[in-house]
Amino acid sequence: MDNDIETDSAVYKTLLESTNAIPWKIDWATLKFSYIGPQIESLLGWPRSSWVSVEDWASRMHPEDRAWVVDFCVAQSKAGTDHEADYRALGKDGDYVWIRDVVHVVRNEQGEVEALIGFMFDISERKTTEEKLIVLQKELEDLSFKDGLTGVPNRRMFDTIMEAEWANAMRNHQPLSLIMLDIDYFKQYNDHYGHIQGDDCLKRVAQALSSAATRSRDFFARFGGEEFVLVLPETDATAAKNVAERCRNLIFKEQIFHEKSQVSQLMTASFGVGTIIPTRNDELIKFVAEVDMRLYRAKKEGRNCIM
Ligand code: GH3
Ligand code: MG
Ligand code: MG
Repeated sequence: MDNDIETDSAVYKTLLESTNAIPWKIDWATLKFSYIGPQIESLLGWPRSSWVSVEDWASRMHPEDRAWVVDFCVAQSKAGTDHEADYRALGKDGDYVWIRDVVHVVRNEQGEVEALIGFMFDISERKTTEEKLIVLQKELEDLSFKDGLTGVPNRRMFDTIMEAEWANAMRNHQPLSLIMLDIDYFKQYNDHYGHIQGDDCLKRVAQALSSAATRSRDFFARFGGEEFVLVLPETDATAAKNVAERCRNLIFKEQIFHEKSQVSQLMTASFGVGTIIPTRNDELIKFVAEVDMRLYRAKKEGRNCIM
């Protein structure tokens, strides 16, 4: 039997010291390591003998992680609760390694905390992947609100912003203005100059119009096709009309030749402008439809004008 126990502990030792996870044990009374696996040296570079007390553990932790990890682990241990924590451990070469420490609290027969035993796992690869995913997700979010051709915000972003500003205007009893514009005879432009040049024209118009409104909450987007929108919070009808005039001028200043336009030799656009102080009885969708109607009327009245 004795022989078996000896064989068993040799097996356990071999098992513990050959896994990737690093086992350790801390005596709660002295807060000193009574054991740490030899693998720690190959992971972090510090010699096994240098892991004496919890101080060594805490001091080799990233300064941003240290306070909360130590506080959390002490609190959990005092409460006798098994726990785990992710943190960056400092390697001897000065680089940090992401570690997941999984801790089991050992109690004596009286229920008092006697020791902590745990495993450290190297999770740096997983963390790198997670961080990459977060960056990708952020990029995707940005992309999904951006128009692919012109780089300005897209229809989806417009919907989000418009809804938020509508609610704001209602709450604060402030006027909210909306400008919708549509390039004149753009189909003819495409037909005559080709789609590539058509795309180029849209980029130029978008670029020029991005600077039309100047207040920080003013918002410009491509609504779709050759239509653009401006959302102007806390802006009355007169000020909105002025911004629309400025848009007309900015397009004119681009001097985009349009031989096939029936209103001008240069690229022009038609505008619908509306202003509202929304109340509970108003509907956002109806307001947008009303401004769109005005744009349609601008087209009927001969184009290159503001309605
Ligand atoms: P109107 O003066 O009444 O606005 O006439 P229009 O020709 O501008 O309007 P219409 O709606 O008939 O045509 C819009 C054209 O815009 C048709 C479509 O091919 C073109 N268009 C929409 N999106 C793009 C795009 O991303 N690139 C290019 N090159 N053309 C586009
Ligand atoms: Mg159109
Ligand atoms: Mg058009």
